[in-house]
Amino acid sequence: MFSTHYLRKAFTLNSKRFSSTISGLDASKVKVTKSQVLKPLVANKDLVFGHTFTDHMITADWNEEKGWLAPEIRPYENLSLAPSTVVFHYASECFEGMKAYKDKKGNIRLFRPDMNMARMNRSTARIALPQFDGDELLKLIGEYTKMDSRWIPNERGYSLYLRPTMIGTQEALGVNPPSNAKLFVIGCPVGPYYKTGFAAIKLMATTEYVRAWPRGTGDAKIGGNYAPGLLPQRLAAARGSQQNLWLFGDDHQLTEVGAMNLFLLWKNESNELELVTPPLDGSILPGVTRDSILSLAREWNEFKVTERKLTMPELREAIKQGRVKEVFGAGTACIVSPIKTIEYLGEDLAIPLDPYDSTSQAGPYTKRFSDEIMDIQYGDKESPWSVVV
Ligand SMILES: *Cc1c(COP(=O)(O)O)cnc(C)c1O
Repeated sequence: MFSTHYLRKAFTLNSKRFSSTISGLDASKVKVTKSQVLKPLVANKDLVFGHTFTDHMITADWNEEKGWLAPEIRPYENLSLAPSTVVFHYASECFEGMKAYKDKKGNIRLFRPDMNMARMNRSTARIALPQFDGDELLKLIGEYTKMDSRWIPNERGYSLYLRPTMIGTQEALGVNPPSNAKLFVIGCPVGPYYKTGFAAIKLMATTEYVRAWPRGTGDAKIGGNYAPGLLPQRLAAARGSQQNLWLFGDDHQLTEVGAMNLFLLWKNESNELELVTPPLDGSILPGVTRDSILSLAREWNEFKVTERKLTMPELREAIKQGRVKEVFGAGTACIVSPIKTIEYLGEDLAIPLDPYDSTSQAGPYTKRFSDEIMDIQYGDKESPWSVVV
């Protein structure tokens, strides 16, 4: 599915780097340095997403001659980088977003972490950063989450958000594939996205800017994709929307919601109940949550499940005809984010939430996806998707 031309090329180029004396990332070589002073924990109720970090971090350096050097788990601290470091100039940076959960027995669990490792290697390939062995990084993440386990809240809805990151660290202004790179992982305890249950959001459809385009980088989780989204987000916020809805093309194809994948449950043109999400055409980020929702929906087999293009005029017509049942965004941070209004070309289009409960902030299937995924993440329901570290 992802074997696009650039990836094949990048993998071939990278595999040359794995020859003879070049070492791969090796978790068994890890050097562990414990922090002398442990930070005070923050009460669950006071957690703000992405503001509190644990006591330690994982780091590993890479260079073209030697490959991956011994990784480290060490105290969380500032990085020291020369102003000429390539990441500051050409955005040689990619990242992942995943979570560690504590189950009722106190085990630490990850949710489909192999997908994050594979996606990160596709991101690094796209920006000419090195490949790494995802299983080795997962071993390091396992050790790190155990070491900082006191930071993983043991309450449903809470977790430790993990941010694996890779940056180009060569000190040079030439526009070349970096000869040096650093991989690091930091973690922050986070609470439920919606503290008081779901809160349906308003979107503004962005017609002036696009997030991604075919044969661009929209399918890679690289830092360079996100800063340009902040202005449209600010414009949407100024008009009372929580997120912007990214469109593409003159026909205003629906793509993503802020940094989430988009789902629509509707009665389609043939009056069939259908769950639709835009296809992975290179401009859509292949979300782990997106894939999980598609798999669950196909397993339930209660409605048609389709990955296809859909335009804003088609959605507008369906909303006006009362054919739209539920619209939601999907991503690791919130699992699902119900949508109640879309502002499109100056018009507010209202989307129903729950037909059976006027006080509800999410449709029945939106809720069911969220509950089912959480049951798996917290080990309340057995599934190969949940991996005990
Ligand atoms: C990370 C991200 C998503 C969601 O991916 P998950 O793996 O489900 O967290 C969706 N869209 C964009 C643009 C993203 O960066």
